[in-house]
Amino acid sequence: MPRFKTSVVLSAGLAMFWARLGSLNALENVSTCRLLKKWVRSRVPSADTMGRVFAAMDTAGLRKALHHIYSRLKRNKALLKFAGSTVAVLDGHETHASYRRHCQGCLQRTIHTQDGDRIQYYHRNVTLMLVSPKLRLLIDVEPQRKGEDEVGAALRLLKRVLRTYPRAFQVILADALYASAPFINFLWAHRKYCLVVLKDARRDIYQDALALFKLQPGQIGRYRGRNCLWFDISDFTSWPQVIAPLRIVRSQESYLVYRQATKQSVRETTEWLWLTNLPASLASTERIVQLGHARWDIENYGFNELVNGWHADHVYRHDPTAIEAFYLTAFLAFNLFHAFLTLNVKPALRYTKTDSFWARALTSEIYGETSEYALIRAP
Ligand SMILES: [Zn+2]
Repeated sequence: MPRFKTSVVLSAGLAMFWARLGSLNALENVSTCRLLKKWVRSRVPSADTMGRVFAAMDTAGLRKALHHIYSRLKRNKALLKFAGSTVAVLDGHETHASYRRHCQGCLQRTIHTQDGDRIQYYHRNVTLMLVSPKLRLLIDVEPQRKGEDEVGAALRLLKRVLRTYPRAFQVILADALYASAPFINFLWAHRKYCLVVLKDARRDIYQDALALFKLQPGQIGRYRGRNCLWFDISDFTSWPQVIAPLRIVRSQESYLVYRQATKQSVRETTEWLWLTNLPASLASTERIVQLGHARWDIENYGFNELVNGWHADHVYRHDPTAIEAFYLTAFLAFNLFHAFLTLNVKPALRYTKTDSFWARALTSEIYGETSEYALIRAP
């Protein structure tokens, strides 16, 4: 059996993500591509070899490579503050589910079906992304283990990240699930701030905030063309398990929506509530609103792009180490692709072409350079 260097396998994996091929078999299909062979400096490994090597890969090495990209970009001043702070976003994500195939890293749950209860196997992970105005960097991922919840996996991820990226971010944005005492206390103990959606109306702090907002006149503001009424109260103590001083910001927003069916604009309203330990001296109400909304932009443009555009959720090999290694490789590919577009492609060209244009151009180049395609192109 031919042996391949890990660097060859990793280079082939990066090319697979850049060209958005979506599977190891699709990579094997283009193994005669001259461009690809030149890039990996070898024969392109088979799908089987790729899976086998990724299942034995040193994930710490992949994390080091991610850190190296971060350090270079930081040195080159490519990572700027977002809404006045250095910001990261945490997001939990289920990658796939199956009734049949499972591995030792699979979580399981019982699904009640018409034919009785069935065990479903699945994987979940938590991802951390750095956010700057021009660039988003995926820096680490942590699988959720059996018997723990998402916040447990996130805390393990953060412990590692705070050791390797101690000054990369001041504020973490996260969804309502992270409005939990262990999470907020952990960040407070490490001198970091969190900003999370507050949704749980059963919490005392939620009810206290609603009562106190009634006593405030509210502050008129604007966010992306929306008329807003903001309420901002600090020093909540109605959550005894939380050691950090808490602040709650509410934004009531109204905006016009054009309805195609009636050809008329109608006024819609929406309301947001965010919980944070960021003091008013460091972030104004407007900044909190910007950061709170950024959480959703990132969901739309960061994680969704990774899953839908980069096929990061595909199970390239059903093995816990391989799943983690393929995810980290997708992060490397994503970061290098976006850093290259942002820093190396002239703005005139960058702003007139979508990201998927460049991905498709690369894909067509790879297919066009295979020996099979050369055969049908020959006169
Ligand atoms: Zn599994």
